[in-house]
Amino acid sequence: MGGFDCDVLVVGLGPVGAVLTALLAQRGVRVIALEKDARPYPLPRAVHFDHEIMRIFQQLGVADQMRRHARDLPDYEFRSADGRVLLNLRPPRETPSGWSGGYMFHQPSLEGVLRERLAALPSADIRLGQRFDALTQDADGVTASVTTPTGSVAIRARYLVGCDGASSAVREAIGGGLDDYQFDEPWLVVDVKVGAGGRAPEINIQLCDPARPTTCVLSGPGRHRWEFMLLPGESAEAMLDDAVVRGLIGPWDCGPVQIERKAVYRFHGLVARRWRAGRVLIAGDAAHQTPPFAGQGMCAGIRDAANLAWKLDAILRGTAADALLETYQAEREPHVRAAIELAIGMGRVVCTLDPAAAAQRDAAMLAAQSGGAPALPPMTASPFATGCLLAGSPGAGELFPQPTAGEGSARLRMDDRLGEDAWLIARARAGEDVAGVRVADIDAEDLAPFRAALLAWLDRRQVDAVLVRPDRYVFGAGAPGALLSAWQASLR
Ligand SMILES: Cc1cc2nc3c(=O)[nH]c(=O)nc-3n(C[C@H](O)[C@H](O)[C@H](O)COP(=O)(O)OP(=O)(O)OC[C@H]3O[C@@H](n4cnc5c(N)ncnc54)[C@H](O)[C@@H]3O)c2cc1C
Repeated sequence: MGGFDCDVLVVGLGPVGAVLTALLAQRGVRVIALEKDARPYPLPRAVHFDHEIMRIFQQLGVADQMRRHARDLPDYEFRSADGRVLLNLRPPRETPSGWSGGYMFHQPSLEGVLRERLAALPSADIRLGQRFDALTQDADGVTASVTTPTGSVAIRARYLVGCDGASSAVREAIGGGLDDYQFDEPWLVVDVKVGAGGRAPEINIQLCDPARPTTCVLSGPGRHRWEFMLLPGESAEAMLDDAVVRGLIGPWDCGPVQIERKAVYRFHGLVARRWRAGRVLIAGDAAHQTPPFAGQGMCAGIRDAANLAWKLDAILRGTAADALLETYQAEREPHVRAAIELAIGMGRVVCTLDPAAAAQRDAAMLAAQSGGAPALPPMTASPFATGCLLAGSPGAGELFPQPTAGEGSARLRMDDRLGEDAWLIARARAGEDVAGVRVADIDAEDLAPFRAALLAWLDRRQVDAVLVRPDRYVFGAGAPGALLSAWQASLR
């Protein structure tokens, strides 16, 4: 490896570091992943991921395993203290990803599945119980100082990605700084196992009760989550007492539940100003943090990982220039900010402690509902308008749909047929595959089950072809030859 211990050094093996490591190693990139702790984070955190994340799990070959630890996203109701429905967010029935609108899951099980997948990838060298301390970089690579159980070592990599969470040392090392949305609310988070005869609600609920704003949502099968806002003067220590927790859950009348995990967090919105310095990048909570009301923190981080993985791979293979990394923050930050702003919008609705303000809010939300007006800021659907795309061409920057065919376990999904490279999908035969691009026409035999959906996409945009990036976002649409040339030029 010419003095390099690996191509990419990933710091932190939470869900984002694990997905990034797996996506890279699956493409043959040699990765070392450092994790300071021996086991996944034990306290309650994410319970929801969306359809696009399931599509990324599909790419990693672990969708079926994830499915076993998850339940389909149910309705999400905002209710007043007296039980009136202020807002009902229904999961989308159709998604571009070809999966359900979202899933409620158990994070330790999800991280367990990712670690099993990593263990099967020869290019991934997982080093648990090793802490990243500091880095230096030069024109060719990055050198990290790492504390291991037997002493300090230096690891040399071409690139380093900090997936080291909210207190990221890598972010500090690159002077990432943080923009603060000035949202800062303390909440008690409790995960329970629901025993036989348990009656936990079957939908997700935000109880907008000014006496105690409360979240009650599904987790993985047989599990449930409550979150209780701390009131002024309440201490985290006192709230974590089991008797207090039982007193809070009791009125929900759920039958036998066993408290599994609990923690007090301060929910806030933060975005690092700088996600890259030379050969060092940050992703996931290291780059941004959101209140959990929209269930998007981990999802945003996994989208970061998918955005970075193919770019690093292309650069390391020599098919793209290092400058491609400049598109990473440009593409991801607007979407991250939209998710944070949506979550803070939800949080401001929920975290109202003044009874008079709560009554006004309830009246406004009920009126908005009957008038058909949106009660929450919409989340940006199209994630980026600048970056690695053919600006101005139809569909550029959109998530390309994954058509499916069949039902149940026999369901066919298009991504499985087309593989990990970029795709050029054209109405008519447009030549042979080229480096990093699968060239396919809609009459290809393996695309037959998806032909109608692909044709509809091309017809709607009145184009002959679409070029889809390896992370399944549309690079551009138009004439096949011109698309291929533009793609190659944009990588260079
Ligand atoms: C109450 C709550 C509810 C949430 N609900 C949702 C939800 O429903 N959906 C959702 O998408 N998100 C949710 N989130 C957010 C989600 O949990 C986080 O965004 C996600 O876990 C971040 O993943 P990460 O891999 O970036 O960071 P982390 O999971 O924090 O992982 C970072 C890893 O880096 C390691 N590390 C740190 N420093 C070093 C070092 N110096 N050397 C080596 N290793 C290091 C840590 O030990 C850790 O394992 C929720 C969060 C909370 C608190």
